[in-house]
Amino acid sequence: MNLNDSIQVLKGVGAKRKEILEKMNIRTVKDLVYTFPRKYEDRRTVSYIMNAPFNEDVLLEVIVVSKKLQGSPYNKKAPLKVLVEDSTGNLELVFFNAKYLAGYFFPGQQLTLFGKITLNNGRRQMVHPEFHRTGDKDDIRGLFPVYPLTEGLTQGQMRNLQLLAEPYHGLIREWLPPEIVDDNNLCPPSYAVTNIHFPSEERRVLEGRYRLVFEELLILQTGLFYIKKGIKSFQKGIKLDKNVGVDEFLNNMRFQLTEGQKRAYKEIEADLEDSRPMNRLVQGDVGSGKTVVAELAMYKTVKCGFQAVMMAPTELLARQHIETLKKDFEPLGVRCELLSGSMKVKERRELLEDLKEGKIQILVGTHAIIQPDVEFADLGLVVTDEQHRFGVEQRNLLTRKGKDPNVLVMTATPIPRTLAVILFGDLDISIIDTLPKGRKPIKTFLRYEESRNKIYDFVRDKVKEGSQAYVVAPLIEESDAIKVRSAEEIYDELVPRYPGVRIGLVHGAMKPKEKDEIMLSFKNGEIDVLVSTVVIEVGIDVPNATIMVIENCERFGLAQLHQLRGRVGRGEKQSYCILISGSKGEIAEKRNNIMVSSSDGFVIAEEDLKLRGPGEIFGTRQHGIPELGIADLVKNVDILNKVRVIAEDIIEKDPALSEPEDLELRDRIRMMFGDKISLNL
Ligand code: ADP
Ligand code: MG
Repeated sequence: MNLNDSIQVLKGVGAKRKEILEKMNIRTVKDLVYTFPRKYEDRRTVSYIMNAPFNEDVLLEVIVVSKKLQGSPYNKKAPLKVLVEDSTGNLELVFFNAKYLAGYFFPGQQLTLFGKITLNNGRRQMVHPEFHRTGDKDDIRGLFPVYPLTEGLTQGQMRNLQLLAEPYHGLIREWLPPEIVDDNNLCPPSYAVTNIHFPSEERRVLEGRYRLVFEELLILQTGLFYIKKGIKSFQKGIKLDKNVGVDEFLNNMRFQLTEGQKRAYKEIEADLEDSRPMNRLVQGDVGSGKTVVAELAMYKTVKCGFQAVMMAPTELLARQHIETLKKDFEPLGVRCELLSGSMKVKERRELLEDLKEGKIQILVGTHAIIQPDVEFADLGLVVTDEQHRFGVEQRNLLTRKGKDPNVLVMTATPIPRTLAVILFGDLDISIIDTLPKGRKPIKTFLRYEESRNKIYDFVRDKVKEGSQAYVVAPLIEESDAIKVRSAEEIYDELVPRYPGVRIGLVHGAMKPKEKDEIMLSFKNGEIDVLVSTVVIEVGIDVPNATIMVIENCERFGLAQLHQLRGRVGRGEKQSYCILISGSKGEIAEKRNNIMVSSSDGFVIAEEDLKLRGPGEIFGTRQHGIPELGIADLVKNVDILNKVRVIAEDIIEKDPALSEPEDLELRDRIRMMFGDKISLNL
């Protein structure tokens, strides 16, 4: 008997079951044992028929009053109805297509039931409940584990498999060093696993859970540190000359750097002057001025004789960047070019030739710059803007266009520090936590449908004063049952209301090129009010736009609302964000109020995380983070903090994880990361 035995050693697991389990990455008994319940169904408290809630699973203890088969006795499909009662009242059990069950019940019999009570023509019913008769083998009471499943596998089958694997629990040995076990009060892993699968007592489940969350996070964190260390210690990158400064650039600037920008650049500069390749994430709220920090890094790189490339998630952002870069760099004699999707073949070929010969020092573009025919003479720096839009893979492809170039990634998605360390485990992090001086805080208001007229008037007045406005509507999905206003509808409403005002419309069905053109006219001040679905790109910079109206704001994630709001408040004038909520529900209210009361992206992100969880927000898969079986990066943040210190220590002492005491850890890292991340283990 061995934990690494194939799952097929278990009774009843044949080729077909094996295939189904494989879909869940369960191949060995160990894999099965480490597949944990997502939650527990609490079937310990008995409810009474007349007091029990409808449509929720409840546990009842009843006595059978009578039974009858409806319809013709020759009809196999005739439903079986069993009348049962407890001290408060009675209830009808309904079993369709189950004539054979008739013999199971008799008047006076005691039954335990588990199921949902529904109301049918004023009669309480339970359709196909789970039931237990005195003497039946499987009890239906207690705490029941609820497992993640896949098609072709039922909860009952999974529970049964776990039962078959129970004899293997004893083989799980303690693998953490005694100091860690003692310091953190961890129970033995075999005890933990048994109690997670077979919850006899809540206290034991909690003890077990703590242990398993702890070890899972330790494996995750150590794995990520290992990868980071590997990148750092094995690669030799480009080392830029310490004596080359960026003063000309700074002297040419229209503004002073903020403290946050200075600090971030200092950290970047140190990386650039080191022989190890830079791998740094710059995180800064919308409008904190990340672009100029990237420009400084590019300038230093170019002055040292290398090329730089900047990748933006959309053509529009790329165009915005090239405009800024040209303005800032051309006076200094640096050639910047945009590789655009709309270039003519000949134009493109010439540009690529110049790039290959080193005549172009800075290239900007969308992910189109990953294409194989884009070659550099000597690529020294790769910048990706709005990193969360790109996967690790895309970043890596771009990096391979040079010989271990420095890498700078920028994101406006505010990520709580602990989580950032996990998500960007392979990156160092700089945070720009200051906004440029003179920004007026955006005034945010929460309004409902009844104020629509007033809001429209307000927008018109501001536009007449020379400001520009965004009106954003959520994307309408076909499945939408609830009425949501579409961008088109709003546009049709505004046109007659606003004579003399130039209104633009961007909607989901448009081609990217059409969208970009309209966005560009807005940027150039040729459109006063832009009505759109959520295509207003992150990062677009229109300082004259001071009004942001968001329709059906309850449809947006908090972080998304924050991003949208960040489109205004970029100039001298007072800016406004008006959230129009289509729901007065409690949760909607709570979320909306967070937006009204906070302008801090980090605070909003924390709240968003609590409401939605990290997977949904950051697409953890995209970041190359393996799926977790029991730990929750948000709820278990305290454990994560403890574990981080321990993981740092382990990697410090044994960077290759080759010492005997780290072998199991190494194995578990391999098990967790699989082929998602290449480990040199
Ligand atoms: P983001 O961090 O959202 O990418 P940007 O780099 O687009 O922000 O900068 C937002 C705006 O702030 C730009 O118009 C930029 O020129 C301006 N800006 C950046 N840094 C400063 C600063 N230190 N002082 C004043 N304005 C600044
Ligand atoms: Mg930006």
